[in-house]
Amino acid sequence: QIQFADDMQEFSKFPTKTGRRSLSRSISQSSTDSYSSAASYTDSSDDEVSPREKQQTNSKGSSNFCVKNIKQAEFGRREIEIAEQDMSALISLRKRAQGEKPLAGAKIVGCTHITAQTAVLIETLCALGAQCRWSACNIYSTQNEVAAALAEAGVAVFAWKGESEDDFWWCIDRCVNVDGWQANMILDDGGDLTHWVYKKYPNVFKKIRGIVEESVTGVHRLYQLSKAGKLCVPAMNVNDSVTKQKFDNLYCCRESILDGLKRTTDVMFGGKQVVVCGYGEVGKGCCAALKALGAIVYVTEIDPICALQACMDGFRVVKLSEVIRQVDVVITCTGNKNVVTREHLDRMKNSCIVCNMGHSNTEIDVTSLRTPELTWERVRSQVDHVIWPDGKRVVLLAEGRLLNLSCSTVPTFVLSITATTQALALIELYNAPEGRYKQDVYLLPKKMDEYVASLHLPSFDAHLTELTDDQAKYLGLNKNGPFKPNYYRY
Ligand code: NAD
Repeated sequence: QIQFADDMQEFSKFPTKTGRRSLSRSISQSSTDSYSSAASYTDSSDDEVSPREKQQTNSKGSSNFCVKNIKQAEFGRREIEIAEQDMSALISLRKRAQGEKPLAGAKIVGCTHITAQTAVLIETLCALGAQCRWSACNIYSTQNEVAAALAEAGVAVFAWKGESEDDFWWCIDRCVNVDGWQANMILDDGGDLTHWVYKKYPNVFKKIRGIVEESVTGVHRLYQLSKAGKLCVPAMNVNDSVTKQKFDNLYCCRESILDGLKRTTDVMFGGKQVVVCGYGEVGKGCCAALKALGAIVYVTEIDPICALQACMDGFRVVKLSEVIRQVDVVITCTGNKNVVTREHLDRMKNSCIVCNMGHSNTEIDVTSLRTPELTWERVRSQVDHVIWPDGKRVVLLAEGRLLNLSCSTVPTFVLSITATTQALALIELYNAPEGRYKQDVYLLPKKMDEYVASLHLPSFDAHLTELTDDQAKYLGLNKNGPFKPNYYRY
């Protein structure tokens, strides 16, 4: 299914020269269950009037936006400036684009989380020459003050924290359905915007040069459209680019698993027995972090290759049933369902902590715990004690939903990598000569992945070794990359 753009083609002139319910279906999982990277410092209950009812103008007299409170702009600006500190790749993209605006003429309609980090992306796109109209892909994740700062800076943003379902689609509609302005690029996270345009304004696709999609869900929908022959423009699957996968799944989880557990339970990990179900990218990240803090880590796997990797990394590979009575923490990261069953839950010891790091909330059979003999006690936000008749308590976090996205923040640096990938994917699709991309879903060219990584190296003062002519010839490589074939597994 996945198409690779031709590595031999220069991906773009720019980087070489120098990421409820619709009308007919439930509101997408991503709109309720994906990244909420940082809670808004200003909450949505500061007044009860819907932003849709308010008349607001920014300091330049424009009212081409709808946010909770434009007066929070100054606070939001500070948040954006803090995020910029850890997003130097985007800042360097802005600098490189001075004089050369690779997105001049681009009219981007976007639907992503609206946080300080995405604001840095949006403002980068504007600095590269684009006009942007933006809505939120999640009804809870908008940082109101950041939305206000964007509106103050002149971005047409329609989003606030705590939108109703009707608000959610209204905001998307306000971004797409505008007199005298027609989008020619889509940046989506979850596929809701793309879905809306397909359903309500299919003619818009006549002008669209491409869709850039970040989420698993959205990418899945694009592949379905492509399979049904209904995808009418090229699309970039940012989710599966190497830099995104490694950083989002492995390194991000390596950092945020402990954060999520500590914030909710104050648990100490040294000497604790932890079982991690699944030793893929997410599982590897979780295990590495737990091991570093002195936990005794067990792994369960179905795949002998991943199981062998776990063995080589020094973990005991077991069946869940073998350790379930003794472990202090159970973490699922398989992407599978019913990995932790009611039988396992019945056998856990008192105070065992159970949580999920996988995408779906079906890894732990939480439904099986909703029976009359068990008592549920909400002890903190996102923390439930499930109490058995004999007094045993199991500590269930985030009701089995993604722990880190529900209970902790995501490092800005990880988001920087994704945002840079999105920006480059937009530049590539916008500038690609006719015929390079067909009406299909593509992965980013390897060279662009490498470019995203190279833009982040200066943060570490990392110095790359350059191939000599002789070495390049010996390896059969271009000195400037790509350095690995597409099948290389990193
Ligand atoms: P992966 O495919 O690399 O790893 C999953 C592993 O689980 C595989 O090795 C598989 O063999 C194993 N597995 C499947 N069923 C199992 C079972 N019944 N028992 C034990 N092992 C089993 O995937 P990944 O990249 O590690 O992602 C895992 C999940 O985490 C996905 O649902 C993904 O969407 C999600 N994810 C979460 C975050 C986050 O921030 N929490 C970030 C990225 C991805």
